[in-house]
Amino acid sequence: LKRRVDDALGSPVLRHALADFSARYVKMRKAAFGGLDFEAIRDEVVAVKERAISERERLQREFAEKLEAKGGRVHRADDSAEANQIIRGILEEHGARKVVKSKSITSEEIRLNKALEGAGLEVTETDLGEWIVQLAGHSPSHMVIPAIHMDRNQIAALFSEKLGEEVPPDIGGMVKLARRHLRRALTEADAGITGANIAVAAAGTLIIVTNEGNGGLATSLPRIHIALVGTDKLLPDWPSAMSILRALPPSATGQRMSSYVSFLTGPALEKQHVILLDNGRRRMAESPDFRQALRCLRCGACLNVCPVYRIIGGQAFSHVYMGGIGTILTAFIHDRDAACELAKLCSGCRACATVCPAGIDIPFLIEKVAGLAAEENGLGPIEWLLLRGVMSRRRAYHALMTSLGKAGGILADKDGMLKIGAGALPSADFRAIPVVARESYRSSLSGRDAREEKGERIIFFTGCLADFVYPETARAAERLLSSVGFETAMPTGQGCCGLPAHHLGDAGTARRQAAEAVKSLSAEGAEPIVTVCPTCLHAIRSLWPELLAGTELESEARRIAARAVGISSFLIARADKLRFAPAKQKITYHDSCHVKNMGEGEELAARRLLTIAGYELVETGENSCCGFGGTFSVNQPGISEKMLSARLDSLSGTGASCAATDCPGCVLQIRGGMARRSVRFLARHTVEYLAEALVDSDD
Ligand code: SF4
Ligand code: SF4
Repeated sequence: LKRRVDDALGSPVLRHALADFSARYVKMRKAAFGGLDFEAIRDEVVAVKERAISERERLQREFAEKLEAKGGRVHRADDSAEANQIIRGILEEHGARKVVKSKSITSEEIRLNKALEGAGLEVTETDLGEWIVQLAGHSPSHMVIPAIHMDRNQIAALFSEKLGEEVPPDIGGMVKLARRHLRRALTEADAGITGANIAVAAAGTLIIVTNEGNGGLATSLPRIHIALVGTDKLLPDWPSAMSILRALPPSATGQRMSSYVSFLTGPALEKQHVILLDNGRRRMAESPDFRQALRCLRCGACLNVCPVYRIIGGQAFSHVYMGGIGTILTAFIHDRDAACELAKLCSGCRACATVCPAGIDIPFLIEKVAGLAAEENGLGPIEWLLLRGVMSRRRAYHALMTSLGKAGGILADKDGMLKIGAGALPSADFRAIPVVARESYRSSLSGRDAREEKGERIIFFTGCLADFVYPETARAAERLLSSVGFETAMPTGQGCCGLPAHHLGDAGTARRQAAEAVKSLSAEGAEPIVTVCPTCLHAIRSLWPELLAGTELESEARRIAARAVGISSFLIARADKLRFAPAKQKITYHDSCHVKNMGEGEELAARRLLTIAGYELVETGENSCCGFGGTFSVNQPGISEKMLSARLDSLSGTGASCAATDCPGCVLQIRGGMARRSVRFLARHTVEYLAEALVDSDD
């Protein structure tokens, strides 16, 4: 994996192509869903697919019955080997030698080309991108745009070499040339092999969605049509098929509808064979956690917004299905151990979950895949030491942080960054690492009467970074809360929120941390719980109820989840009580992924607060991920560095000399990156800027 990632990181062509496409895709998707209710469409897809998963056995029978009544033939294959054998048998029976294919990622799943070529058949991909990767001997790097990793010059060079004529890098000319070759292959073929986007059980109909029209040609020009269809593509009826067709093109290509939608019921010419492929899908359907992954439409939307995919592309995943959903599918379809490795490529940013039209919680399932590895092989020595040896024992962890804080002065440079021993850390060459603060926020509270009643109370969940590394963030939040009439109570029994442990696949440690935190918070009362860390907020809202489901703490975890709120959202609702001496400073804002992808408008609240405080806010254009992702930045320093570098460029490009963000992790990453560049650019939590401009009510 490391070699593949390094290869991808070394390709500026790849990075440029992916970044360019991703930026265009976001705009096209927005336009395609314009005026439509994406959430309603997504709810419908979830309902339709869930029903289909529950009725999958009946749907297979009904589809076979209906299609065979129209002259088609249905086969069932349990795995890749059986599917390949069936397809080879059909081609042999009909004396077929030349085969054309239209885009079918399911055929990549079973490595069909290799099996057919091994049997002496001539196979030609007819989708332009697939044909390019076939000529190049590559695997597809995207579910929908298989050759996205190649630019026009590389494709022209490939065509020149493989087609025996000098081909200039002109896209229009290359498309014409490809059409000539592919039309000939289509007219000469004995059999056409396709996939299907949908199989309608009630009608025995296959639906194939394409933009090049090759799906229609590959199913109607050759005398034999073979369709390889995953059992997850079955739907009960036409209304359910229409629900999927509403969601698929806008998600896949940013179009309201694709150029060609073919409906096939029975053979167009001589024969039609449909192979319904299981290949791990039954096991997925039976897993309460992973069942939801069967809703996947293979639209690729999750890839297009994934900051990691945007840097390394699809080939680094190497197992046909790429990106976050690829990691999950690989665990069931190809190789569980490989999937466990791939899980480390996820930063947990949740961008994919916001666009998935099938409502799949991809990052959560990736953490479950990481958990499978930890269950089967145990944790790695570093993870074990970190999680089981330190983090799972709150008192020991806090004692360690306190000792590190005491040593911090000796180890730090004048900016509070680690100057001794940093060279040994894999992620410290591209970003400076802060030392633990001399006095943590919790230590500064000792001796204070936390229950001194000056106003209403809130419970303060600081998170580890604001407690031990950036206590000034916690103090700024406390000042702001006090100025809107709230006393903060920080339960000192709070420890790590559990998300880092869960991300590394250690659900046991995460569950213990969640249980301890829930007990500590519930002992405090029923006031709102305010946090300055969006990662902790996500853990409180989603992870704790999930981890504690079925335990005696479940209902308390749910009550706590309902009371948790981010600091900017809490303050904006009380902004009339805040008094500022206008700051008059130019500032830019960095959207933390967990803030942006929670969809609650915390980032909008922060921007409004900064503007109210008098800051001149300048935006960066595209708001990309800074590459922090907690342990991700340590495990994947090469990817994290590229993400950070792009983000630092865009922040510097605003002309502002400082950035606000609502996430202490992003502060660490951006401040550390700017320090490595030796640039005087300050990154701080929003509350610090607000507190700086605040006029206390007693002033
Ligand atoms: S959570 Fe982020 S990094 Fe992980 S798969 Fe989704 S988009 Fe990619
Ligand atoms: S996981 Fe969701 S977004 Fe990704 S390919 Fe599947 S349906 Fe599309």
